[in-house]
Formats: sequence, C-alpha cells, structure tokens
Amino acid sequence: MDLKNRVAIVTGGSRGIGRKIVEVFCNLGATVYFTYNKDEQSAGEVEQLFGAQAIKCDQSERPAIERTVEQVYEKENSVDILVNNAGVTADNFFALANLDEWRKVLDINLNGTIYWSKAVCKPMMYSDGGAIINMASVSGLVGIPGQTNYAASKGAVLAFTRSLAAEVAPKKIRVNAVVPGFIDTDMTAKMPRDIKKQSVQKIALKRFGTAEEVAKTTAFLASDDASYIVGQTIIVDGGLTATSVF
Ligand code: NAP
Repeated sequence: MDLKNRVAIVTGGSRGIGRKIVEVFCNLGATVYFTYNKDEQSAGEVEQLFGAQAIKCDQSERPAIERTVEQVYEKENSVDILVNNAGVTADNFFALANLDEWRKVLDINLNGTIYWSKAVCKPMMYSDGGAIINMASVSGLVGIPGQTNYAASKGAVLAFTRSLAAEVAPKKIRVNAVVPGFIDTDMTAKMPRDIKKQSVQKIALKRFGTAEEVAKTTAFLASDDASYIVGQTIIVDGGLTATSVF
C-alpha cells in the first residue's frame, strides 16, 4: 500500500482509532491533517510523533468544517482522502434517554459525516477524484441494547455511504465504510467490566480488536489497491457478526 502524494483529512485523529489511522497514513507517505475537539494534549502528541497537522474543529460546526477544507485545499491544492472517523457514544435505555444527548450523538456521528463529505466533494472533483471512508459500527448492523441513538447514527452513515457512493463514483470519488466491532480504545474502556467479559465471549476470535487492525483496513480502502471497491461496508469485528450466538 502506498499513499504518497496524497492529502488526507482524518476527523477525530487525536485518540483511538483515528490516531492510529493518522500514524498509518503518515507512514504510507500521505500528508495528513486531523481534527480533534477537546483533547489538545493528545492532538499535540500526534503532531509531534507523526508529523501530521492538528486542527481543532467540532463535528457539529458546519462553517468551521467548510473553512477547514478550504484552508487545506488552498495550501495543498488537493484533498484526496477524507476519513470520517470522529464519533461518540451516549449509551442509555431508550425509555430513559435524554433527547438532547440523542441529538448530540446524531449531530457528531451523522451530521458531522455529512458536513465533511459535502465540503470535500467539490475539491475532490477538481483534484481528479478521491476516497471517502466512513467509520460506522456493528451497532449500525445489529441491535445492541442501550445504543439506540448510536445505532441510528451509524445505520444512517451506512445508508448514506451507499447512496453517496452511487452518486459520486462517476466523478472518480470512491465512498466506502468500515464497521469496527469492539476495539480497544477510550470508547470501550468505559464499558462495565462484566459487559466487556460477556462481549469478548461473543467474538469468534475471543478478543477485542486493535486500532491498528481498523487503521490498516482504512488505509487499504483509501489506497489505489482498492480502486474497484465502491459503496461497500468492510466489517472488522473478529467474527462478531458473522458467527452464531454460541
Ligand atoms: P475515541 O477513542 O473516543 O476517540 C474519539 C476521537 O473523536 C477523539 O479524537 C475525539 O477528539 C474525537 N471527537 C469526539 N467528539 C468530537 C467532536 N465533537 N468534534 C471533533 N472530534 C471529536 O473513539 P474510538 O474508539 O477511536 O472511535 C473512533 C470511531 O470508531 C468512532 O466513529 C466510533 O463510533 C467508531 N467505532 C469505535 C468502536 C470501538 O470499539 N472503539 C467500535 C465501533 C465503531 P477529542 O478527544 O478532542 O474530543
């Protein structure tokens, strides 16, 4: 795989899966810009370690997202890869759910993905195409109690991926989705220990995945090695959704 001479934007690149994507992309030769929201210290570490450039940009701020894409395009003359990775959970049983939390999850996970995708479409067309990779979740495929808000956002991201892919493929923009299962990051670190134990038992490989395993799949989809892959959902879940309940 090679991402030399590619300009990439990775949302939520300061921690977890996004941070690994930034590292892998930089190692493959890409010029990488990444966003974060609050954790300035982690963003600074990523800049120092991998030579990527951090931009503080909240997923729900459409004008800031548009300005960021314009700035990157003006500086680099192209935007070749977008990874819509930033995401949050706010798990709760639906009957108890706070609708403001619900809206926040949809805003960050779904609307943010839409704003970023819209902002890069034209620059990608001017730069002779590109690749957009949307980070979804197994929650967008199967029912998980307590995750109605997250599931709605990620299921919508998958549907959005397919329709956008059909629309922009003739303009040489490939849109695909990655569906991680349970991956070891800050997001899963907050799961209660007994739920974590039960979850591991449901995974065919009997372990959580690593951010690197998701990042390498993302890099493949971003690279020319995936030149004929369009509108697909690649599941990286250690067999969680493919195997039976036993
Ligand atoms: P994480 O460790 O919690 O990291 C989240 C990243 O998103 C951080 O860089 C964070 O930056 C950024 N972010 C959060 N809210 C933001 C906002 N409003 N604006 C801009 N950036 C924001 O999460 P992760 O586990 O790496 O998850 C990455 C993606 O994979 C998410 O879309 C998640 O839904 C998906 N996913 C994860 C798992 C898993 O098991 N971990 C499974 C399936 C899908 P700050 O620290 O600055 O806020």
